Amino acid sequence: LRHLVVVLGDQLDRQSAAFDGFDPAQDRVWMAEAIEESTQVWSTQPRIAIFLAAMRHFAEALRGEGLQVDYRLLDDADNRGTLAAELAAALARMRPAALVLVQPGEWRVQEALRAVAAHAGVALDEREDRHFLCTPAAFARYAESRPQLVMEHFYRAMRKRHRVLMDGDAPAGGAWNFDTDNRGAFGRDGPGFLPQPAAFPPDATTQQVIALVRKHFAERPGRLDAFAWPVTRSEALQALDTFVAERLPLFGHWQDAMWGGEPWLYHAQLSAALNLKLLDPREVIARAEAAYRAGQVPIACAEGFIRQILGWREYVRGIYWREMPGYLARNALDAHADLPPWYWTGQTDRECLRDTIAQTLDLGYAHHIQRLMVTGLYALLLGVEPVQVHAWYLAVYVDAVEWVELPNTLGMSQFADGGLLGSKPYVASGQYIARMSDHCRHCRFRPAERTGENACPFTTLYWDFLARHAQRFAEHPRLRAQVQNLARLSDAERGAIALRADAIRRGEA
Ligand code: FAD
Repeated sequence: LRHLVVVLGDQLDRQSAAFDGFDPAQDRVWMAEAIEESTQVWSTQPRIAIFLAAMRHFAEALRGEGLQVDYRLLDDADNRGTLAAELAAALARMRPAALVLVQPGEWRVQEALRAVAAHAGVALDEREDRHFLCTPAAFARYAESRPQLVMEHFYRAMRKRHRVLMDGDAPAGGAWNFDTDNRGAFGRDGPGFLPQPAAFPPDATTQQVIALVRKHFAERPGRLDAFAWPVTRSEALQALDTFVAERLPLFGHWQDAMWGGEPWLYHAQLSAALNLKLLDPREVIARAEAAYRAGQVPIACAEGFIRQILGWREYVRGIYWREMPGYLARNALDAHADLPPWYWTGQTDRECLRDTIAQTLDLGYAHHIQRLMVTGLYALLLGVEPVQVHAWYLAVYVDAVEWVELPNTLGMSQFADGGLLGSKPYVASGQYIARMSDHCRHCRFRPAERTGENACPFTTLYWDFLARHAQRFAEHPRLRAQVQNLARLSDAERGAIALRADAIRRGEA
């Protein structure tokens, strides 16, 4: 055997560098389902199912092309349970001249597989992940040339470099950013007409996976009854088509809005397909830009969507590889509380959290503002230890891979990196949720009240957060005004806030 080519669960891309120079006569693909990947990362049922279903479909497609695929099933009687042990055994058995590996999406996996190759004495041919538009090395160079990292600056540089939404040297539509158009709320009457997203009922392969997950991971949170994610490239392309035609034209304005019982709204639901590498970000960006150029989509929608993929997605990956492994241990706000156990069940009387967690466990999905300003915000205000928040986010979402999940959770949502990724902590009271959703109308708590029986826990904890961190943020340019508002409160009220916040933290309110 000349090359043993590793294809990991989030590398399901036939155009990947892994296949450069692949010779079916001399090379073989290696894929393995390892139970460790769903225990090390304590995955919920939807997350396990999407990875296994997409992997099995990809292997079938490769075999259909005549490639040899050495594929280890999770329930093979002698499956060793870890990628490293399985790979070591495969190397011993097949004795390839070289092991081909595209950079994994997780630092831990990269280290483990490198160690296996070294231990086996097999040459390791590590290749760049071409899926991304910015390599870790290019990002590191970019970062070194800047006194401070600012996503918006990085995004503009990417727009120019990759000629996306540019009219000559100027940004299309006359501005780089239409963020202020992206913050609409639905008002009292709700979202009105919502086009249904593309859904992909499980085929025989996916049904087998669902049965396997139900059998082997019965104790894990999450449900599979509504599983309808795209798990092949052709399904992912169909999902992209439907999104661009039906929801992208409305995406921009309602990007931050929430509505109870409506999990999808106008969002793309493309993150899992992108992160599994069933879709290439370039084609997704090109489709959105083409729809704008054809007059089918307003600039604010196209730009708002493209910014997430060309900007945020590449930016967080750059930070991940630049900061790992130390990033995992960051805890700038010295937060040590435990994650409330109901994050795993959704059984809470806080309506916004109940709704967000319920859909998360049912579907493996929540949109960005639900992740940032409901589950993330509550954990931040409570002062939950960042690694516990990280473990939850990595477990529950079908699009969760550490390179993207960790910077979003630990950096953007918990401010545990002290402002490296984002310039300020995203803190708000329950009033924000009242403005952006209908949750408070169905909740027993009152978002405007800071203290007392009916005070919204978000609101109490928001003021408590400002009080606890007043010194740190007193001079912060973007938080100073919020901290100064504390001075309007009497000593008695501040005392009452602290008491109620303690009770909430103890689970008594
Ligand atoms: P849309 O809202 O329609 O956005 C379009 C696309 O832009 C997404 O498909 C995604 O690929 C990309 N995107 C949007 N925001 C971000 C972002 N902040 N970072 C990177 N890419 C982005 N995204 C993941 O892909 N995996 C994760 O594990 C993940 N964990 C998150 C954890 C927290 C605490 C937060 C606040 C955000 C997280 N995100 C994560 C980012 C974002 O919430 C999801 O990408 C998005 O909700 C996916 O839904 P969608 O495809 O409908 O996205």
